[in-house]
This record gives sequence, structure tokens and C-alpha cells, in this order.
Amino acid sequence: MCGIVGILGTTPVNQALYDGLTVLQHRGQDAAGIVTIDGNTLRQRKANGLVRDVFEERHMERLIGNVGIGHVRYPTAGSSSVAQAQPFYVNSPFGIALAHNGNLTNARELKEEQFRVARRHINTSSDSEILLNVFAHELDQQTQTLRLEPSHVFAAISKVHEQVKGAYATVAAIIGHGMLAFRDPNGIRPLVLGKRDCETGGTEYMVASESVALNAVGFELIRDIAPGEAVYITEQGELFTEQCAAEPQHQPCIFEYVYFARPDSFIDKVSVYGARAQMGQKLGDKIAREWEDFDIDVVIPIPETSCDIALEIAHNLDLPYRQGFVKNRYIGRTFIMPGQVQREQSVRRKLNAIPSEFAGKNVLLVDDSIVRGTTSEQIIKMAREAGAKKVYFASAAPEIRFPNVYGIDMPSVNELIAYGREVDEICQLIGADGLIYQELSDLESAVRHFNPDLRRFETSVFTGEYVTQDVNQAYLDELNALRNDGAKLNDCSDNSHLGIYNEGQS
Ligand code: AMP
Repeated sequence: MCGIVGILGTTPVNQALYDGLTVLQHRGQDAAGIVTIDGNTLRQRKANGLVRDVFEERHMERLIGNVGIGHVRYPTAGSSSVAQAQPFYVNSPFGIALAHNGNLTNARELKEEQFRVARRHINTSSDSEILLNVFAHELDQQTQTLRLEPSHVFAAISKVHEQVKGAYATVAAIIGHGMLAFRDPNGIRPLVLGKRDCETGGTEYMVASESVALNAVGFELIRDIAPGEAVYITEQGELFTEQCAAEPQHQPCIFEYVYFARPDSFIDKVSVYGARAQMGQKLGDKIAREWEDFDIDVVIPIPETSCDIALEIAHNLDLPYRQGFVKNRYIGRTFIMPGQVQREQSVRRKLNAIPSEFAGKNVLLVDDSIVRGTTSEQIIKMAREAGAKKVYFASAAPEIRFPNVYGIDMPSVNELIAYGREVDEICQLIGADGLIYQELSDLESAVRHFNPDLRRFETSVFTGEYVTQDVNQAYLDELNALRNDGAKLNDCSDNSHLGIYNEGQS
């Protein structure tokens, strides 16, 4: 997962891009980059690290221009090299910089095709660089002169949709012409469009992965960019839009609502906070139904994503809600650290129990999801050490049994605790006195509650069914080899040995 922003303004956009990226930092902490258009020069700064560390004053001063795009990268195996930080750039036609959130599932074929047919060399193993080259090649086919019409851009995007499979929410800046944003025909990753009227007259436009980025810099949300749609805004501020996919089918990734997005964002007209509250309602109903004579004394969230969910469960079951764990904000997320031992230690470094909230009580711990089971196992131990009598566990997401191929770094299938296991077995492994998972149908209706038009979702981590219908065992095996702990531990800064699939988890 990554975060992207793009602004076409009437005044310099560097500060607003920076602020927008800061608000999207939760979507990726591995690397950050900004490209601006300054006359006929593209200015760029990208490096590994958090937004606040990557951009110093001297960099910001050089990021001149009223048009620009930015990216924060999500850390995955194979993506750590700075050469793979985004935006990417090609110098023909025109000069295009592009930033991408998602993952292409036919990257290998596309890369070969680009080399064979278009004679384009892809210099990194990033699928985002492949996407940029496919677009650049198609745009080149449409234009013979320096003129660029919206119809050329839309025809090129239609060709992109015909060839590219997977998830791609994308923003691009075309030097001398304007800004472009497009979303894959399934709309798997989110992308919103906003505007701001400026004091000097005229309208400024912004696109971003999440609506919070618009709010943070004073842009008003216009709408989500539709699956398959392309929005092209000229340097003069004229906005053009077209549906470029033959058969768009909206199937947004449901995990955005469970875990990734900020609660104050709206994605596809759904309040992420509202959806999480609904998840809590539904899970509370299931607990009341299935654990009829439950002896839970208190509901305790595993901070932070699950706090909103746990609070609703507590309300629903008429139980007290207490904060039993304190989170240290100054260490990295545990999930992505290679090696099980580090992962276990990291849970304890990240979270600490408040003994008074556990001593002598039967507690229900709530988390948004269980992936490897590391967090749940460690946290249950901590609750017992803090004096809990019984420890029950509830997951707001159903059992995660399959890898994600659309931009979320789920571990290899054998490392997923729910893979090939039933709930009782998982319960034993994590050491809980009782374990309950959300039903997938309940999770879907929790989100759909706010937008009944969302008929289908991308739910492959729960079902193993991939919406792009091109994911076969060979692809999954390759992904598996890249994502397991062995591969992560062998990772080095030059990732050329890792193939092409991993780094595009953008
Ligand atoms: P695990 O400890 O492997 O079972 O992971 C579960 C924890 O990781 C939960 O607390 C989630 O909030 C969090 N989580 C879920 N999915 C991801 C992800 N793709 N990247 C990072 N953290 C995640």
C-alpha cells in the first residue's frame, strides 16, 4: 500500500504536497518523493524515510512549480532501494512523472512486452516503472507532434486498461501540459478528486489516495475517481474526464476499511470511521448470538485501529470499555519486520499493559485483524501476565487465509495463521480462552451500509478469489518465495535479484 497526491494549482504546490503526504504517512513509511514541474524542467526529491526526514528546507526550496505529484511508499520485501522510490520519470513523450498505489499482477509479461515491442528499457524491478512505460508508449502512439489533446490522453489510458492487470490508482504530471489521474477498472485502491478556489481567481485541483489529504490542505472533496475513469487537467486549469475502461466493475479493497485507511477518510462515499463502528456492531451481534452466556467483564482494544470497533462492541454488549494497553508511537509497525523473533519482541516494545485493567477480570481483546497471529499471541500472554482470569479474542476481519496481490504485503500463505486451520485450532495456537471472527457477509454489509451501490468488494485475502481473474498458482508461488521470512532476511539494498513482483506493492 502506498499514498499518492497530485496538485495542479495557480501558486507553488510544494508545501501542500508535503502536507498532503504527511497526512498519508500511515499508508507508507518506507520512502517518500515529490516531483514538481518548473517551466520545462521536472524537479525531483525522493529518498528512503519518513516525509519529515526526506524533505529538508533546501529540497523544498528547489521543488518549484504550480503542478506536482508525490508518493509515500509502503515497506515490503524488495522495495527498500532508493532507486525504487517514486515518482518515476520518463523523458519521452513530453516528460512524464508518475506515482502509483497498487500492484500489477501481469508485470512480468508487460515488462517483456515493453522491451520487445516498444524497445523500452525498465531500469528497476518496480511495476510502477512498468506502468509508466506502458502509458508513455501508448501516449507516444497517439501523438505525432508536440500537441497533446485530452482525447490522446484518454485513448492511451484505454490502451493501458486493455493491457494492464491488477490494482493501480495513479497520478501523473506531464511536462508542459498538465496532470492526469486514473484508477484501474475495478477501483481496487482508492483515489479522490478535490478542488479549491483560489483568492486570485481560478480553481486548483488535487487528487489523493484518501480524502484526509484534501482536508489537510484546504481542498474540498468533489468525488471519488470512478473505476476505469481518467481525469486530465490542463496547465490552464481545464478539467476533462472520460471513462476509459470497456467494462468497469467497482470492487474496492475491503481491507482499506478494516485496517489501512485513516478513520477520518471517506472512500467511495463510505466513512471509514462509520464502517469500523458498523463492524463493531456486527461483531457484537455475533458475540451475543454465539457466546450466549458469556462471562466477559470488560472490552479492551489493541490500539489503535480497533479502538472504534471495540467501543461499539462494548456498547452493543452493554459492557465497560477500557484502554488496557498503551502504545509507544515511536517504533515501527511490527508486521513488516523480518523474522518471527523480532516480530514478537516488537509487539512488547510497541504495547504495554496497564495491570489494573486486567487483574482478576475476564477480558475481551479486540483487534482489527489477525495475520500471522504474532500480535494476538503476545498480547494474550501480556494480558495473562497482567492478571487476567480469562482472555477472549475478537477479530473485526474474517480469517485471513490467502495472500494479497493488489498492494498489501500479507506474508506468504504458510505464515498466515488461519491458512488451512479452523477457528478452534487458531484459538489454541494464540492461547485464547475463546476466539471469534467477523463473518465476511457482515464485514461487507458494514461497509455497504454507507453506500448501497458497492455491490462487490475485493476480498481475496479471505476467499482466495482474485477479482482480476489472472492470478494463478505459479504467480502465487513466486510471490510466496519473495515474501517469506527467508527472502526478507536475504533482502539487500540492491534488489535486482528479487524479480519484479514485490516492490510494486506501492
Ligand atoms: P499479526 O501480528 O501478524 O497477526 O498481525 C496483526 C496485526 O497487524 C493487527 O494488529 C493489525 O492491526 C496489523 N496489520 C494487519 N494487516 C497489516 C498489514 N498489511 N501491514 C501491517 N500491519 C497489519
